[in-house]
Amino acid sequence: MPNRDVEVVVVGGGAAGVAAAQRLHQASVPCLLVEARPRLGGRAWTVTDGAGFALDLGCGWLHSADRNPWARVAEQRGASIDKTQPPWMRPALAIGFPQEEQYDFHRALGAFFARMDRAAARETDVAAASLLDPDCRWNGLINAVGTYISGMDLDRLSVKDFDRYEDSGINWRVVEGYGALISAYGANLPVMLDCEVTGIDHRGKRLSIETSQGAIAADRVIVTIPSALIAAERLKFTPALPEKIEAAGSLPLGLADKLFLSLDGADEFNPDTRAFGRTDREGTGGYHLRPFGRPMIEAYFGGGLAADLEAADLKGNGEAGFVDFAVAELTNLFGNGFAGRVKPIRVHSWGRDPFALGSYSSALPGFTDCRATLAEPVDDRLFFAGEACSRHDFSTAHGGFLTGVAAAERVLNARHHRPPSS
Ligand SMILES: Cc1cc2nc3c(=O)[nH]c(=O)nc-3n(C[C@H](O)[C@H](O)[C@H](O)COP(=O)(O)OP(=O)(O)OC[C@H]3O[C@@H](n4cnc5c(N)ncnc54)[C@H](O)[C@@H]3O)c2cc1C
Repeated sequence: MPNRDVEVVVVGGGAAGVAAAQRLHQASVPCLLVEARPRLGGRAWTVTDGAGFALDLGCGWLHSADRNPWARVAEQRGASIDKTQPPWMRPALAIGFPQEEQYDFHRALGAFFARMDRAAARETDVAAASLLDPDCRWNGLINAVGTYISGMDLDRLSVKDFDRYEDSGINWRVVEGYGALISAYGANLPVMLDCEVTGIDHRGKRLSIETSQGAIAADRVIVTIPSALIAAERLKFTPALPEKIEAAGSLPLGLADKLFLSLDGADEFNPDTRAFGRTDREGTGGYHLRPFGRPMIEAYFGGGLAADLEAADLKGNGEAGFVDFAVAELTNLFGNGFAGRVKPIRVHSWGRDPFALGSYSSALPGFTDCRATLAEPVDDRLFFAGEACSRHDFSTAHGGFLTGVAAAERVLNARHHRPPSS
Protein backbone atom coordinates (compact mmCIF):
# COMPACT_ATOMS: atom_id res chain seq x y z
CA MET A 1 0.00 0.00 0.00
CA PRO A 2 1.58 3.31 -1.06
CA ASN A 3 2.22 6.04 1.49
CA ARG A 4 -0.84 8.21 2.23
CA ASP A 5 1.29 11.17 3.17
CA VAL A 6 3.44 12.42 0.32
CA GLU A 7 4.90 15.62 -0.92
CA VAL A 8 3.20 15.68 -4.32
CA VAL A 9 0.13 13.86 -5.61
CA VAL A 10 -0.37 13.68 -9.37
CA VAL A 11 -4.04 13.14 -10.22
CA GLY A 12 -4.55 11.16 -13.44
CA GLY A 13 -2.14 8.74 -15.07
CA GLY A 14 -2.46 9.68 -18.74
CA ALA A 15 0.30 11.17 -20.90
CA ALA A 16 0.46 14.35 -18.77
CA GLY A 17 0.31 12.64 -15.39
CA VAL A 18 2.88 9.97 -16.22
CA ALA A 19 5.28 12.57 -17.64
CA ALA A 20 4.80 14.87 -14.62
CA ALA A 21 5.31 12.08 -12.09
CA GLN A 22 8.34 10.76 -13.99
CA ARG A 23 9.94 14.21 -13.94
CA LEU A 24 9.36 14.51 -10.17
CA HIS A 25 10.60 10.97 -9.59
CA GLN A 26 13.78 11.75 -11.53
CA ALA A 27 14.28 14.81 -9.28
CA SER A 28 13.84 12.51 -6.21
CA VAL A 29 10.66 14.27 -5.08
CA PRO A 30 8.38 11.89 -3.16
CA CYS A 31 5.23 11.69 -5.28
CA LEU A 32 2.24 9.45 -5.84
CA LEU A 33 0.35 9.03 -9.08
CA VAL A 34 -3.37 8.44 -8.44
CA GLU A 35 -5.39 7.00 -11.31
CA ALA A 36 -9.11 6.17 -11.43
CA ARG A 37 -8.79 3.39 -14.02
CA PRO A 38 -7.22 -0.02 -13.46
CA ARG A 39 -4.46 0.98 -15.91
CA LEU A 40 -2.20 3.90 -16.81
CA GLY A 41 -2.43 5.75 -20.14
CA GLY A 42 -5.88 7.38 -20.04
CA ARG A 43 -6.84 8.34 -23.58
CA ALA A 44 -3.70 6.52 -24.73
CA TRP A 45 -4.85 2.90 -24.69
CA THR A 46 -3.43 -0.06 -26.58
CA VAL A 47 -5.27 -3.39 -26.64
CA THR A 48 -4.16 -6.56 -28.39
CA ASP A 49 -6.43 -8.38 -30.83
CA GLY A 50 -6.69 -12.16 -31.28
CA ALA A 51 -3.89 -12.13 -33.88
CA GLY A 52 -1.54 -10.29 -31.48
CA PHE A 53 -1.68 -6.89 -33.21
CA ALA A 54 -1.44 -3.86 -30.93
CA LEU A 55 -4.48 -1.63 -31.53
CA ASP A 56 -4.57 1.95 -30.30
CA LEU A 57 -8.13 2.82 -29.31
CA GLY A 58 -7.01 6.35 -28.41
CA CYS A 59 -3.94 8.17 -29.73
CA GLY A 60 -2.06 6.37 -32.49
CA TRP A 61 0.04 8.98 -34.29
CA LEU A 62 3.19 10.58 -32.96
CA HIS A 63 2.22 13.94 -34.42
CA SER A 64 5.07 16.45 -34.93
CA ALA A 65 7.22 13.36 -34.48
CA ASP A 66 10.50 15.19 -35.12
CA ARG A 67 9.98 17.20 -31.91
CA ASN A 68 7.64 14.83 -30.06
CA PRO A 69 9.10 13.77 -26.68
CA TRP A 70 7.28 10.43 -26.88
CA ALA A 71 9.29 9.62 -30.02
CA ARG A 72 12.45 10.03 -27.95
CA VAL A 73 11.00 7.81 -25.22
CA ALA A 74 10.13 5.22 -27.88
CA GLU A 75 13.66 5.31 -29.28
CA GLN A 76 15.23 5.01 -25.81
CA ARG A 77 13.03 2.01 -25.04
CA GLY A 78 13.78 0.27 -28.31
CA ALA A 79 10.18 0.44 -29.53
CA SER A 80 9.65 -0.01 -33.28
CA ILE A 81 8.77 3.24 -34.99
CA ASP A 82 6.96 3.12 -38.32
CA LYS A 83 7.65 6.18 -40.47
CA THR A 84 5.24 5.42 -43.32
CA GLN A 85 3.57 8.62 -44.47
CA PRO A 86 0.02 8.84 -43.04
CA PRO A 87 -2.89 8.17 -45.38
CA TRP A 88 -4.20 11.73 -45.11
CA MET A 89 -0.99 13.00 -46.73
CA ARG A 90 -1.35 10.71 -49.73
CA PRO A 91 -4.09 10.31 -52.34
CA ALA A 92 -7.17 8.45 -51.14
CA LEU A 93 -8.49 5.34 -52.86
CA ALA A 94 -9.98 6.31 -56.22
CA ILE A 95 -13.12 4.16 -55.73
CA GLY A 96 -15.97 6.62 -55.25
CA PHE A 97 -13.47 9.49 -55.36
CA PRO A 98 -11.65 9.83 -58.70
CA GLN A 99 -8.25 11.57 -58.74
CA GLU A 100 -9.59 14.68 -60.46
CA GLU A 101 -12.20 15.13 -57.74
CA GLN A 102 -9.56 14.59 -55.07
CA TYR A 103 -7.48 17.43 -56.53
CA ASP A 104 -10.58 19.64 -56.60
CA PHE A 105 -11.38 18.76 -52.97
CA HIS A 106 -7.81 19.49 -51.82
CA ARG A 107 -7.90 22.84 -53.59
CA ALA A 108 -11.15 23.68 -51.75
CA LEU A 109 -9.74 22.46 -48.42
CA GLY A 110 -6.55 24.50 -48.95
CA ALA A 111 -8.60 27.62 -49.73
CA PHE A 112 -10.69 27.04 -46.58
CA PHE A 113 -7.54 26.71 -44.43
CA ALA A 114 -6.16 29.89 -46.00
CA ARG A 115 -9.37 31.75 -45.03
CA MET A 116 -8.99 30.34 -41.49
CA ASP A 117 -5.42 31.65 -41.41
CA ARG A 118 -6.45 35.15 -42.43
CA ALA A 119 -9.44 35.19 -40.07
CA ALA A 120 -7.26 34.10 -37.14
CA ALA A 121 -5.18 37.27 -37.54
CA ARG A 122 -8.26 39.46 -36.98
CA GLU A 123 -9.21 40.66 -33.52
CA THR A 124 -12.53 38.87 -33.17
CA ASP A 125 -12.58 35.10 -33.12
CA VAL A 126 -15.23 33.30 -35.17
CA ALA A 127 -16.49 29.75 -35.66
CA ALA A 128 -14.76 27.92 -38.51
CA ALA A 129 -18.11 27.11 -40.17
CA SER A 130 -18.60 30.84 -40.92
CA LEU A 131 -15.65 30.62 -43.35
CA LEU A 132 -17.09 27.88 -45.54
CA ASP A 133 -17.83 29.02 -49.07
CA PRO A 134 -21.61 28.49 -49.35
CA ASP A 135 -21.26 27.54 -53.02
CA CYS A 136 -18.55 24.93 -52.51
CA ARG A 137 -19.59 21.36 -53.30
CA TRP A 138 -17.05 19.96 -50.81
CA ASN A 139 -18.40 21.54 -47.61
CA GLY A 140 -19.68 18.20 -46.31
CA LEU A 141 -16.28 16.52 -46.64
CA ILE A 142 -14.44 19.61 -45.32
CA ASN A 143 -16.67 19.40 -42.25
CA ALA A 144 -16.00 15.66 -41.89
CA VAL A 145 -12.23 16.17 -42.06
CA GLY A 146 -12.62 19.01 -39.53
CA THR A 147 -14.28 16.58 -37.11
CA TYR A 148 -11.44 14.04 -37.53
CA ILE A 149 -8.89 16.75 -36.73
CA SER A 150 -10.63 18.48 -33.83
CA GLY A 151 -13.47 16.15 -32.85
CA MET A 152 -15.72 19.18 -33.14
CA ASP A 153 -18.19 20.22 -35.82
CA LEU A 154 -17.01 23.40 -37.52
CA ASP A 155 -19.81 25.55 -36.09
CA ARG A 156 -18.29 25.11 -32.59
CA LEU A 157 -14.63 25.33 -33.58
CA SER A 158 -12.59 28.46 -32.72
CA VAL A 159 -10.57 29.68 -35.69
CA LYS A 160 -7.94 31.27 -33.42
CA ASP A 161 -7.49 28.06 -31.44
CA PHE A 162 -7.18 25.95 -34.59
CA ASP A 163 -4.62 28.41 -35.91
CA ARG A 164 -2.50 28.21 -32.76
CA TYR A 165 -1.95 24.48 -33.11
CA GLU A 166 1.58 23.81 -34.34
CA ASP A 167 2.16 20.85 -36.62
CA SER A 168 5.59 19.99 -38.01
CA GLY A 169 3.94 17.71 -40.59
CA ILE A 170 5.92 14.65 -39.50
CA ASN A 171 3.75 11.76 -38.27
CA TRP A 172 5.04 8.37 -37.11
CA ARG A 173 3.53 5.38 -35.31
CA VAL A 174 4.67 2.95 -32.62
CA VAL A 175 4.18 -0.61 -33.84
CA GLU A 176 3.73 -1.93 -30.27
CA GLY A 177 1.18 0.84 -29.58
CA TYR A 178 1.34 4.47 -28.47
CA GLY A 179 -0.79 3.66 -25.42
CA ALA A 180 1.50 0.78 -24.43
CA LEU A 181 4.50 3.12 -24.66
CA ILE A 182 2.90 5.75 -22.41
CA SER A 183 1.75 3.29 -19.74
CA ALA A 184 5.16 1.56 -19.77
CA TYR A 185 6.82 4.94 -19.15
CA GLY A 186 5.00 5.02 -15.79
CA ALA A 187 5.79 1.43 -14.80
CA ASN A 188 8.49 2.38 -12.25
CA LEU A 189 6.39 5.03 -10.47
CA PRO A 190 4.51 4.78 -7.17
CA VAL A 191 0.92 4.48 -8.35
CA MET A 192 -2.53 3.91 -6.88
CA LEU A 193 -4.82 2.43 -9.55
CA ASP A 194 -8.62 2.07 -9.36
CA CYS A 195 -8.53 5.15 -7.19
CA GLU A 196 -10.81 8.03 -8.19
CA VAL A 197 -10.02 11.43 -6.73
CA THR A 198 -13.32 13.02 -5.74
CA GLY A 199 -12.12 16.19 -4.07
CA ILE A 200 -9.18 18.39 -3.15
CA ASP A 201 -9.49 20.36 0.07
CA HIS A 202 -6.97 23.21 0.02
CA ARG A 203 -8.16 25.10 3.11
CA GLY A 204 -5.53 23.79 5.49
CA LYS A 205 -1.78 24.08 5.66
CA ARG A 206 -1.60 20.75 3.86
CA LEU A 207 -3.84 19.49 1.08
CA SER A 208 -6.32 16.71 1.63
CA ILE A 209 -6.83 14.63 -1.51
CA GLU A 210 -10.15 12.79 -1.11
CA THR A 211 -10.26 9.52 -3.02
CA SER A 212 -12.40 6.41 -3.40
CA GLN A 213 -9.73 4.69 -1.28
CA GLY A 214 -9.61 7.29 1.50
CA ALA A 215 -7.78 10.60 2.02
CA ILE A 216 -4.16 11.32 1.12
CA ALA A 217 -2.23 14.23 2.65
CA ALA A 218 0.07 16.19 0.34
CA ASP A 219 1.85 19.51 0.06
CA ARG A 220 1.20 19.98 -3.62
CA VAL A 221 -0.94 18.42 -6.32
CA ILE A 222 -0.80 18.31 -10.11
CA VAL A 223 -4.28 17.80 -11.60
CA THR A 224 -4.25 16.27 -15.09
CA ILE A 225 -7.82 15.01 -15.55
CA PRO A 226 -9.58 15.91 -18.83
CA SER A 227 -11.17 19.37 -19.07
CA ALA A 228 -14.66 17.85 -19.46
CA LEU A 229 -14.37 16.29 -15.98
CA ILE A 230 -13.20 19.56 -14.40
CA ALA A 231 -16.12 21.36 -16.06
CA ALA A 232 -18.56 18.71 -14.79
CA GLU A 233 -17.06 19.10 -11.28
CA ARG A 234 -16.38 15.40 -11.05
CA LEU A 235 -13.54 16.47 -8.79
CA LYS A 236 -14.59 19.14 -6.27
CA PHE A 237 -12.20 21.78 -5.02
CA THR A 238 -12.76 23.23 -1.54
CA PRO A 239 -12.79 26.24 -1.65
CA ALA A 240 -14.25 26.10 -5.16
CA LEU A 241 -12.24 27.31 -8.15
CA PRO A 242 -14.90 28.86 -10.41
CA GLU A 243 -12.32 30.26 -12.86
CA LYS A 244 -11.05 26.73 -13.53
CA ILE A 245 -14.56 25.33 -14.04
CA GLU A 246 -15.36 28.18 -16.42
CA ALA A 247 -12.10 27.78 -18.38
CA ALA A 248 -12.56 24.01 -18.62
CA GLY A 249 -16.16 24.51 -19.78
CA SER A 250 -14.90 26.62 -22.69
CA LEU A 251 -12.50 23.80 -23.68
CA PRO A 252 -14.95 20.94 -24.25
CA LEU A 253 -13.72 17.60 -25.53
CA GLY A 254 -14.69 16.95 -29.12
CA LEU A 255 -15.52 13.41 -30.11
CA ALA A 256 -13.55 10.97 -32.26
CA ASP A 257 -14.00 7.20 -32.07
CA LYS A 258 -12.23 4.34 -33.80
CA LEU A 259 -13.67 1.02 -34.89
CA PHE A 260 -11.32 -1.82 -35.89
CA LEU A 261 -12.64 -4.40 -38.37
CA SER A 262 -10.82 -7.49 -39.58
CA LEU A 263 -10.69 -7.77 -43.39
CA ASP A 264 -10.60 -10.97 -45.43
CA GLY A 265 -8.74 -10.75 -48.73
CA ALA A 266 -6.97 -7.60 -47.55
CA ASP A 267 -4.23 -7.97 -50.19
CA GLU A 268 -6.62 -6.45 -52.72
CA PHE A 269 -5.71 -3.06 -51.19
CA ASN A 270 -2.38 -1.30 -50.82
CA PRO A 271 -1.22 -0.92 -47.22
CA ASP A 272 -2.06 2.32 -45.41
CA THR A 273 -4.55 3.78 -47.85
CA ARG A 274 -7.71 5.67 -47.00
CA ALA A 275 -11.21 5.77 -48.36
CA PHE A 276 -14.03 8.10 -47.35
CA GLY A 277 -17.46 6.48 -46.94
CA ARG A 278 -19.07 9.38 -48.77
CA THR A 279 -17.71 12.56 -50.25
CA ASP A 280 -20.96 14.52 -50.24
CA ARG A 281 -21.84 14.74 -46.56
CA GLU A 282 -20.39 15.57 -43.16
CA GLY A 283 -21.59 12.41 -41.44
CA THR A 284 -19.12 9.98 -42.96
CA GLY A 285 -16.33 7.72 -41.74
CA GLY A 286 -12.67 7.76 -42.77
CA TYR A 287 -11.56 4.17 -43.47
CA HIS A 288 -7.85 3.45 -43.08
CA LEU A 289 -7.27 0.24 -45.03
CA ARG A 290 -4.52 -2.12 -43.91
CA PRO A 291 -2.90 0.02 -41.18
CA PHE A 292 0.75 -1.17 -40.87
CA GLY A 293 -0.15 -3.55 -43.72
CA ARG A 294 -2.35 -5.58 -41.34
CA PRO A 295 -5.49 -7.38 -42.59
CA MET A 296 -7.89 -4.89 -41.04
CA ILE A 297 -9.65 -1.54 -41.38
CA GLU A 298 -9.35 1.24 -38.84
CA ALA A 299 -12.50 3.33 -39.18
CA TYR A 300 -12.59 6.88 -37.77
CA PHE A 301 -15.74 8.81 -36.88
CA GLY A 302 -15.82 12.37 -35.57
CA GLY A 303 -18.07 15.09 -34.14
CA GLY A 304 -21.85 14.77 -34.32
CA LEU A 305 -21.66 11.49 -36.27
CA ALA A 306 -19.58 9.83 -33.54
CA ALA A 307 -22.05 11.14 -30.93
CA ASP A 308 -25.00 9.70 -32.89
CA LEU A 309 -23.27 6.34 -33.32
CA GLU A 310 -22.46 6.17 -29.60
CA ALA A 311 -26.10 6.97 -28.82
CA ALA A 312 -27.37 4.27 -31.21
CA ASP A 313 -26.42 1.47 -28.83
CA LEU A 314 -26.79 2.87 -25.33
CA LYS A 315 -27.90 -0.47 -23.91
CA GLY A 316 -25.08 -2.51 -25.43
CA ASN A 317 -21.31 -2.05 -25.45
CA GLY A 318 -21.65 0.72 -28.01
CA GLU A 319 -20.43 -1.41 -30.92
CA ALA A 320 -23.62 -1.98 -32.92
CA GLY A 321 -24.17 1.59 -34.14
CA PHE A 322 -20.59 1.88 -35.42
CA VAL A 323 -20.53 -1.53 -37.08
CA ASP A 324 -23.87 -1.11 -38.88
CA PHE A 325 -22.87 2.34 -40.13
CA ALA A 326 -19.41 1.26 -41.27
CA VAL A 327 -20.67 -1.85 -43.06
CA ALA A 328 -23.34 0.21 -44.85
CA GLU A 329 -20.75 2.75 -46.05
CA LEU A 330 -18.23 0.06 -47.04
CA THR A 331 -20.75 -2.03 -49.00
CA ASN A 332 -21.87 1.14 -50.74
CA LEU A 333 -18.25 1.62 -51.84
CA PHE A 334 -17.11 -1.95 -52.51
CA GLY A 335 -20.32 -3.87 -53.17
CA ASN A 336 -22.64 -6.04 -51.05
CA GLY A 337 -20.17 -8.95 -50.87
CA PHE A 338 -17.89 -6.79 -48.74
CA ALA A 339 -20.14 -7.24 -45.68
CA GLY A 340 -19.05 -10.89 -45.50
CA ARG A 341 -15.37 -9.91 -45.51
CA VAL A 342 -15.35 -7.70 -42.41
CA LYS A 343 -15.85 -8.56 -38.74
CA PRO A 344 -15.77 -6.19 -35.76
CA ILE A 345 -12.67 -6.44 -33.57
CA ARG A 346 -13.00 -3.55 -31.17
CA VAL A 347 -14.47 -0.08 -30.70
CA HIS A 348 -14.36 2.35 -27.79
CA SER A 349 -16.95 5.07 -27.16
CA TRP A 350 -14.87 7.87 -25.65
CA GLY A 351 -17.87 10.11 -25.03
CA ARG A 352 -19.39 7.44 -22.76
CA ASP A 353 -16.10 6.77 -21.01
CA PRO A 354 -16.65 8.12 -17.47
CA PHE A 355 -12.98 9.12 -17.02
CA ALA A 356 -12.71 10.93 -20.35
CA LEU A 357 -16.19 12.16 -21.45
CA GLY A 358 -14.78 12.82 -24.92
CA SER A 359 -11.70 12.52 -27.09
CA TYR A 360 -9.67 15.75 -27.31
CA SER A 361 -10.15 19.37 -26.35
CA SER A 362 -11.13 22.19 -28.62
CA ALA A 363 -11.76 25.81 -27.62
CA LEU A 364 -15.16 27.31 -28.30
CA PRO A 365 -15.00 30.45 -30.49
CA GLY A 366 -13.64 33.34 -28.40
CA PHE A 367 -12.14 31.13 -25.70
CA THR A 368 -8.70 29.97 -26.84
CA ASP A 369 -7.02 31.92 -24.00
CA CYS A 370 -8.82 29.63 -21.54
CA ARG A 371 -5.98 27.14 -22.10
CA ALA A 372 -3.62 29.48 -20.22
CA THR A 373 -6.25 30.11 -17.52
CA LEU A 374 -6.66 26.36 -16.99
CA ALA A 375 -2.89 25.84 -16.76
CA GLU A 376 -2.32 28.64 -14.20
CA PRO A 377 -1.26 27.34 -10.74
CA VAL A 378 -3.22 28.30 -7.61
CA ASP A 379 -1.24 29.44 -4.57
CA ASP A 380 1.85 27.57 -5.73
CA ARG A 381 0.17 24.41 -4.40
CA LEU A 382 -2.37 23.37 -7.04
CA PHE A 383 -0.88 22.81 -10.49
CA PHE A 384 -2.65 21.85 -13.71
CA ALA A 385 -1.59 19.88 -16.77
CA GLY A 386 -3.14 17.83 -19.57
CA GLU A 387 -3.53 18.35 -23.29
CA ALA A 388 -6.20 21.04 -22.80
CA CYS A 389 -3.61 23.21 -20.99
CA SER A 390 -1.30 23.29 -24.00
CA ARG A 391 -1.32 26.45 -26.10
CA HIS A 392 0.18 24.97 -29.27
CA ASP A 393 0.09 21.15 -28.89
CA PHE A 394 -3.39 20.67 -27.41
CA SER A 395 -5.45 17.62 -28.27
CA THR A 396 -2.36 15.42 -28.45
CA ALA A 397 -0.38 13.01 -26.29
CA HIS A 398 2.82 15.03 -26.74
CA GLY A 399 0.89 18.14 -25.65
CA GLY A 400 -0.03 16.15 -22.55
CA PHE A 401 3.63 15.19 -21.98
CA LEU A 402 4.89 18.77 -22.36
CA THR A 403 2.27 20.26 -20.01
CA GLY A 404 2.98 17.51 -17.47
CA VAL A 405 6.70 18.23 -17.46
CA ALA A 406 6.02 22.00 -17.33
CA ALA A 407 3.78 21.53 -14.26
CA ALA A 408 6.44 19.34 -12.61
CA GLU A 409 9.05 22.05 -13.29
CA ARG A 410 6.74 24.61 -11.68
CA VAL A 411 6.46 22.33 -8.64
CA LEU A 412 10.26 22.04 -8.45
CA ASN A 413 10.56 25.78 -8.72
CA ALA A 414 7.91 26.46 -6.05
CA ARG A 415 9.57 23.91 -3.79
CA HIS A 416 12.89 25.66 -4.22
CA HIS A 417 11.43 29.04 -3.29
CA ARG A 418 8.97 27.94 -0.64
CA PRO A 419 9.65 24.61 1.07
CA PRO A 420 6.52 22.53 1.76
CA SER A 421 4.47 23.44 4.85
CA SER A 422 6.66 26.46 5.58
C1 LIG B 1 -9.85 8.19 -30.77
C2 LIG B 1 -8.70 9.08 -30.38
C3 LIG B 1 -7.65 9.28 -31.26
C4 LIG B 1 -6.57 10.09 -30.91
N1 LIG B 1 -5.53 10.21 -31.77
C5 LIG B 1 -4.42 10.88 -31.38
C6 LIG B 1 -3.23 10.81 -32.15
O1 LIG B 1 -3.18 10.13 -33.18
N2 LIG B 1 -2.13 11.49 -31.69
C7 LIG B 1 -2.16 12.20 -30.52
O2 LIG B 1 -1.14 12.77 -30.14
N3 LIG B 1 -3.28 12.27 -29.77
C8 LIG B 1 -4.40 11.62 -30.16
N4 LIG B 1 -5.50 11.59 -29.36
C9 LIG B 1 -5.53 12.45 -28.15
C10 LIG B 1 -4.67 11.91 -27.02
O3 LIG B 1 -5.01 10.57 -26.77
C11 LIG B 1 -4.90 12.76 -25.79
O4 LIG B 1 -4.77 14.14 -26.11
C12 LIG B 1 -3.92 12.46 -24.67
O5 LIG B 1 -3.81 11.07 -24.48
C13 LIG B 1 -4.41 13.15 -23.40
O6 LIG B 1 -3.51 12.93 -22.33
P1 LIG B 1 -3.82 13.62 -20.94
O7 LIG B 1 -2.85 13.10 -19.96
O8 LIG B 1 -3.97 15.08 -21.11
O9 LIG B 1 -5.30 13.11 -20.54
P2 LIG B 1 -5.80 11.62 -20.24
O10 LIG B 1 -5.10 10.65 -21.08
O11 LIG B 1 -7.29 11.66 -20.32
O12 LIG B 1 -5.34 11.38 -18.74
C14 LIG B 1 -6.10 11.78 -17.64
C15 LIG B 1 -6.17 10.64 -16.67
O13 LIG B 1 -6.95 11.04 -15.54
C16 LIG B 1 -7.71 9.93 -15.11
N5 LIG B 1 -8.80 10.44 -14.30
C17 LIG B 1 -9.93 11.05 -14.70
N6 LIG B 1 -10.66 11.42 -13.62
C18 LIG B 1 -9.96 11.02 -12.53
C19 LIG B 1 -10.19 11.15 -11.15
N7 LIG B 1 -11.27 11.77 -10.67
N8 LIG B 1 -9.28 10.62 -10.30
C20 LIG B 1 -8.16 10.02 -10.76
N9 LIG B 1 -7.89 9.89 -12.09
C21 LIG B 1 -8.78 10.41 -12.95
C22 LIG B 1 -8.15 9.28 -16.40
O14 LIG B 1 -8.55 7.95 -16.20
C23 LIG B 1 -6.88 9.40 -17.24
O15 LIG B 1 -6.04 8.28 -17.09
C24 LIG B 1 -6.57 10.75 -29.66
C25 LIG B 1 -7.61 10.54 -28.76
C26 LIG B 1 -8.66 9.71 -29.11
C27 LIG B 1 -9.76 9.47 -28.09
